[in-house]
Amino acid sequence: MTSPAGEDVAPTSSPFVAAVAGRREQMLEFLGRIVSMESPTQEKAHVDAVLEVLADAYRSLGFACRRLAEREYGDHLVADSPAEGRPRVLLVGHADTVYPLGTLASMPARREGDRLRGPAVVDMKGGLVAMLFGVRCLLAAHPRLHGSIRVVITSDEEPGSPTSRDRWPELARGADAAFVFEPARPDGALVLRRKGVGIFRVHVRGRAAHAGAEPEQGASAIRALARKLLDIEDLAAPAAGTTVNVGVVRGGTHPYVVPEDAEAMIDVRVATAAERDRVLAAMGAVVDREDVPLTRATLAGQFHRPPLEPVPGTERLVAMIEDEGRRIGLPVRWATTGGASDGNNLAAAGIPTIDGMGPAGGRAHSPDEYMEIPSLFLKTALLAGLLDRLVGPEAMWR
Ligand SMILES: [Zn+2]
Repeated sequence: MTSPAGEDVAPTSSPFVAAVAGRREQMLEFLGRIVSMESPTQEKAHVDAVLEVLADAYRSLGFACRRLAEREYGDHLVADSPAEGRPRVLLVGHADTVYPLGTLASMPARREGDRLRGPAVVDMKGGLVAMLFGVRCLLAAHPRLHGSIRVVITSDEEPGSPTSRDRWPELARGADAAFVFEPARPDGALVLRRKGVGIFRVHVRGRAAHAGAEPEQGASAIRALARKLLDIEDLAAPAAGTTVNVGVVRGGTHPYVVPEDAEAMIDVRVATAAERDRVLAAMGAVVDREDVPLTRATLAGQFHRPPLEPVPGTERLVAMIEDEGRRIGLPVRWATTGGASDGNNLAAAGIPTIDGMGPAGGRAHSPDEYMEIPSLFLKTALLAGLLDRLVGPEAMWR
């Protein structure tokens, strides 16, 4: 089988493989264009410029686009397909990158065989291209949809979505499925689970005293904190995916003073909501315990990223993706990762969410970031096929 571009395409029963093959040059050109527009999170005007290019592209497909205005960070883009029906599919990406302005000078976008290198090629400008062209290929085949598609592109994902985080419950309301276009793992695996992340601070207040003259008048905050920290680290459960890291400890003033204050900062990661609840309860009990008479401890912090884990409906999407993968010659594998994304917030809102829908690649956030070019085309065809099954004219989703 030969594509309109004259390249060989593996035989498949999906019309979208050939449709994507016919757009290969166009896709790489568009990717080159948005990679050449540097968009670090902290540079609002630059992130907004990328967002506007994407808004234009979705407008040309008939989508209604609106920008959620932000002051400090870039705006967020919401693009809705003309049809209003069910099911509602949510496609999620981010336009911001971790690379400061001027990075292109030392790290120009360049092709090396089947790999494209450059800032944010895989995290996640390649994913933005897969999203756009997946939708474009679907609409070229079926201009009238049965369900609806909402595209959300945020501008502050890299620092943990400080402004978009609280918008998700509203943006995602009524969605039946969500696909997040963060990169696939280097081996091509999609992401079904991401750990939830919490940062906590334990502070102990004791009582200062002269360590030599009247130590009995003192209450050591450091002694109390030390006992607690060992027990808190022991809450880790590697088999369940729970990690606990006491990363910072501070306390006391001088060797000859019984310490009045001590504090620690702790990073906790969990794979499930059940583990999150267990660790929270146990950590609270350890903190409340009076390990040294006359000391008092407090716990601050929260899980700012809840765990991404399967919810009712996820299994059905998994089966659909595996089936569509077989149809287009993409072996589908699944992975768990400790890093968080907006997918964490979507799953917490109860929406079946598949992450890692973007092209495969690696070394994100480093000078060696790369994207596997064939993977970009396959993931685009995968999305077009999934959208066809979900919102195409013959969609059977109920
Ligand atoms: Zn990303």
